[in-house]
Amino acid sequence: MFHELPTFAQLIKGLQQIPFLASKNLYRVAEHFLQMDPERVDQFCALLIHAKEKIVRCDECFCWKERERPCSFCSSPKRDKQLVCVVETWQELFAIEKTDGYQGVYHVLGGAICPLEGIGPDELTIAQLIARVDRGVKEIILATNQTPEGEATAAFIARKLKGKEVIVSCLARGLPVGSSLEAMDRVTVYKALSERRLF
Ligand code: ZN
Repeated sequence: MFHELPTFAQLIKGLQQIPFLASKNLYRVAEHFLQMDPERVDQFCALLIHAKEKIVRCDECFCWKERERPCSFCSSPKRDKQLVCVVETWQELFAIEKTDGYQGVYHVLGGAICPLEGIGPDELTIAQLIARVDRGVKEIILATNQTPEGEATAAFIARKLKGKEVIVSCLARGLPVGSSLEAMDRVTVYKALSERRLF
């Protein structure tokens, strides 16, 4: 059907590369862009380019930060740098921040180990986490999701930290199995964090 619409086909192909865009929405999104005023399309593209230039990952915790500003977590004098909470992505970081009960810093792994999707330890920031521990950290809280991938990732990190001078803890049991922190309510996350146990 796209023989006569090669440019439209190209647009759909481009949108297909956005991982979280459900395929049933591709045509709607394509149509939305095509119906936009040309100036708004320009503004949208400029916004993307600007964000790409200005937003970078923090070298220490790998959370997003403004290029010209220090990381709001790592540079905060109110936060305990000796307490590091390890999360898969920054959506989980937000879930923990929302509890208002965590005063440590973070380490964003960038996902979980998933051999089927070609994600091994080297694709994540695990080596950087180990280096952080070697520079001196009192406690690591493994707050990966309670999915098979999240659990495997936590176990992998715990093995790597064995024998090092650091307390390795994880969230309290009782969280719904297979769930992500992001999907949980504030009180449940707070409870899981404050009642954490040794890994
Ligand atoms: Zn940081």
